[in-house]
Amino acid sequence: MSSFSELSQYELDTAFADLLPLEYCVEKNIAPLGKVPEGTAGPVTIGALTPGDTRLASEVEKQLRRTVRLVQLNAFEIRRALAVIHQLPVAEDDSDAIALDAGREIRFEPNQSPREILADLLAVAIRTGASDIHVESYPADVDLRFRIDGVLRQVPTPLSPENAVRVISRLKVLCGVDFAENRRALDGRFTTIFRENGVARRIDLRVTFLPGPSGAEVAIRVLDRNRFILDLDGLGISPDIAKRYRALTRMPHGLLLAVGPTGVGKTTTLYASVKSLQHDNVKIVTVEDPIEYEFTKVNQKNVTRTMGFADWLRTFLRANPDVILVGEIRDSETAEIAVRAATTGHLILSTLHTGDAISAIGRLRALGAADDFLSDVLVGVLAQRLVRKVCEACAEPCEPEEAVWRRFYDAKPKGTFRRGRGCAACAGTGYSGQTGVYELLVRTEAIVSEIARGTTVPDLRHIARREGWVPLIEDALAKAAAGVTTLEDVARKIGVKNPL
Ligand SMILES: [Zn+2]
Repeated sequence: MSSFSELSQYELDTAFADLLPLEYCVEKNIAPLGKVPEGTAGPVTIGALTPGDTRLASEVEKQLRRTVRLVQLNAFEIRRALAVIHQLPVAEDDSDAIALDAGREIRFEPNQSPREILADLLAVAIRTGASDIHVESYPADVDLRFRIDGVLRQVPTPLSPENAVRVISRLKVLCGVDFAENRRALDGRFTTIFRENGVARRIDLRVTFLPGPSGAEVAIRVLDRNRFILDLDGLGISPDIAKRYRALTRMPHGLLLAVGPTGVGKTTTLYASVKSLQHDNVKIVTVEDPIEYEFTKVNQKNVTRTMGFADWLRTFLRANPDVILVGEIRDSETAEIAVRAATTGHLILSTLHTGDAISAIGRLRALGAADDFLSDVLVGVLAQRLVRKVCEACAEPCEPEEAVWRRFYDAKPKGTFRRGRGCAACAGTGYSGQTGVYELLVRTEAIVSEIARGTTVPDLRHIARREGWVPLIEDALAKAAAGVTTLEDVARKIGVKNPL
């Protein structure tokens, strides 16, 4: 008999929820099985990890004021039984992804199950293109916010502090993390199958549980492969930068970086680069944290606790691929191996957390890259940001206000500026979707020799300007003047040139 059918022999009785507290059962690794006996007599069967533990037996007898019989269950069965008894949400089948239909709406009906509330909330988040879902529970109410186009939006929610706890427990079960753990931060992930217009697609959700003052806080990252634009031409890169960037991706070896803060589309740029290289019959491998889009015929690895970026890089080098995508260079070990790999015939694509393209050189130096190696391998740096696009459904021509244009220009700018009036399609925001703005540092003779000489980042910036590097604020202003975005959003996402 398998250990799983052991549990299935027993009925599970929710009446035990009041007799044996969940915290106690979790601590002792026990679960009451069968019906609560009539009256006060009758032995109670208790599933336990350690059925021979007589001290445990007498302790539980004291708690229940009934005789007990301990039987063996494994930890998984105990958790499963407790979930049923305490009516915590149970994963349908641990191997099965939960199914979501795009037609769901957030409903405000009383007595909805946590399962329904969660399914509604996830379906609406995915359908509206949210990249993140934030749930924060306070003593009196619950905050639900979606990040859409890079901006957090408050969402009306039927969640109350009470049912939020149960929804969070369900999330924990789906993620396979300990639902009784409330004191530590936990990470987990689960998969959904999202059905929209008759087409189903797999969407992974990455969940972070944080202990909060009144229960918990949850951040869910939506890893929706449909959000990736896998075409360099679709990323809003100006034709001039796109042409030069494409040439850099064809270099036989070297280090090519996408830089910027979190959430500005660096991974999207690298994925589109990989996609464009796939046509060239080159061998491509990736190491990511996490894999957000699965390519066919690309060997992709996730960073794990035991295998970091540097470990996978070392492993890859033995197989001698042509192109290696390294999700991020964030420590000196990874920097060192990436630079070494780039000198030995591999094209390394990676990201760095720096503000502009020139700062990437300073960052790599800080991570221990030597100037002569760096000047040898660095082929280019693409820095990027995202700005919101004016909603096409409600766009109208406009003249920028002087108080706004003064922050960027010395004289009134010419262009076809537009703004969104706000409509149903854009939830009144006047914006719909985002586009990238970019700057590209390309390796030139002068830049190579200055890096090798150890020239400082501020001095490099002057030299780079002479060599044709244009700061990305100029790209952003060009897009505002073309009516793609607004000066207000440029100020918000990138900053101003003339602070008042
Ligand atoms: Zn609109």
